[in-house]
Amino acid sequence: MATYLTTAEAAKTARKHPVTVRKALESGELHGSQRSVGGRWTIREDCLEAFIEGRPCEHKARGKRSNVTPIAGRVAS
Ligand SMILES: [Zn+2]
Repeated sequence: MATYLTTAEAAKTARKHPVTVRKALESGELHGSQRSVGGRWTIREDCLEAFIEGRPCEHKARGKRSNVTPIAGRVAS
Protein backbone atom coordinates (compact mmCIF):
# COMPACT_ATOMS: atom_id res chain seq x y z
CA MET A 1 0.00 0.00 0.00
CA ALA A 2 1.37 3.38 -0.97
CA THR A 3 1.92 6.05 1.62
CA TYR A 4 0.58 9.50 0.78
CA LEU A 5 2.03 12.71 2.16
CA THR A 6 0.80 16.27 2.43
CA THR A 7 2.88 19.19 1.16
CA ALA A 8 4.02 19.93 4.73
CA GLU A 9 5.06 16.31 5.35
CA ALA A 10 6.82 16.13 1.99
CA ALA A 11 8.70 19.35 2.73
CA LYS A 12 9.82 18.01 6.09
CA THR A 13 10.97 14.72 4.57
CA ALA A 14 12.79 16.44 1.71
CA ARG A 15 14.18 19.10 4.07
CA LYS A 16 12.86 21.78 1.77
CA HIS A 17 10.61 24.73 2.32
CA PRO A 18 6.89 23.94 1.77
CA VAL A 19 6.79 26.71 -0.86
CA THR A 20 9.64 24.99 -2.74
CA VAL A 21 7.71 21.71 -2.67
CA ARG A 22 4.52 23.40 -3.84
CA LYS A 23 6.36 25.05 -6.73
CA ALA A 24 7.89 21.70 -7.71
CA LEU A 25 4.39 20.20 -7.70
CA GLU A 26 2.95 23.02 -9.77
CA SER A 27 5.78 22.83 -12.31
CA GLY A 28 5.45 19.05 -12.53
CA GLU A 29 8.98 18.49 -11.24
CA LEU A 30 7.50 16.57 -8.34
CA HIS A 31 4.64 14.20 -9.10
CA GLY A 32 1.56 14.73 -6.97
CA SER A 33 -2.20 14.75 -7.06
CA GLN A 34 -4.62 17.54 -6.36
CA ARG A 35 -8.34 17.13 -5.82
CA SER A 36 -8.99 20.49 -7.45
CA VAL A 37 -6.94 23.34 -8.87
CA GLY A 38 -5.57 25.28 -5.90
CA GLY A 39 -6.52 22.51 -3.52
CA ARG A 40 -4.51 20.36 -1.19
CA TRP A 41 -1.73 18.26 -2.71
CA THR A 42 -1.22 14.58 -2.07
CA ILE A 43 2.23 13.18 -2.77
CA ARG A 44 3.12 9.50 -2.90
CA GLU A 45 6.10 8.67 -0.71
CA ASP A 46 7.93 6.86 -3.53
CA CYS A 47 7.40 9.82 -5.85
CA LEU A 48 8.90 12.11 -3.20
CA GLU A 49 11.88 9.78 -2.80
CA ALA A 50 12.47 9.94 -6.54
CA PHE A 51 12.28 13.75 -6.39
CA ILE A 52 14.81 13.89 -3.52
CA GLU A 53 17.16 11.62 -5.47
CA GLY A 54 16.71 13.74 -8.58
CA ARG A 55 15.22 11.01 -10.75
CA PRO A 56 11.79 10.70 -12.37
CA CYS A 57 9.33 8.60 -10.38
CA GLU A 58 7.92 5.43 -11.92
CA HIS A 59 4.86 7.30 -13.19
CA LYS A 60 6.95 9.95 -14.93
CA ALA A 61 9.27 7.30 -16.33
CA ARG A 62 6.19 5.79 -17.96
CA GLY A 63 5.49 9.17 -19.54
CA LYS A 64 2.60 10.22 -17.34
CA ARG A 65 2.97 13.97 -17.24
CA SER A 66 -0.37 15.22 -15.99
CA ASN A 67 0.01 16.31 -12.41
CA VAL A 68 -3.48 17.48 -11.58
CA THR A 69 -5.30 14.18 -11.40
CA PRO A 70 -8.53 14.14 -9.42
CA ILE A 71 -8.06 11.42 -6.82
CA ALA A 72 -11.68 11.74 -5.79
CA GLY A 73 -14.58 11.64 -8.21
CA ARG A 74 -13.34 8.69 -10.22
CA VAL A 75 -14.35 5.16 -9.36
CA ALA A 76 -11.90 4.37 -6.59
CA SER A 77 -13.34 1.15 -5.21
ZN1 LIG B 1 4.82 9.35 -9.35
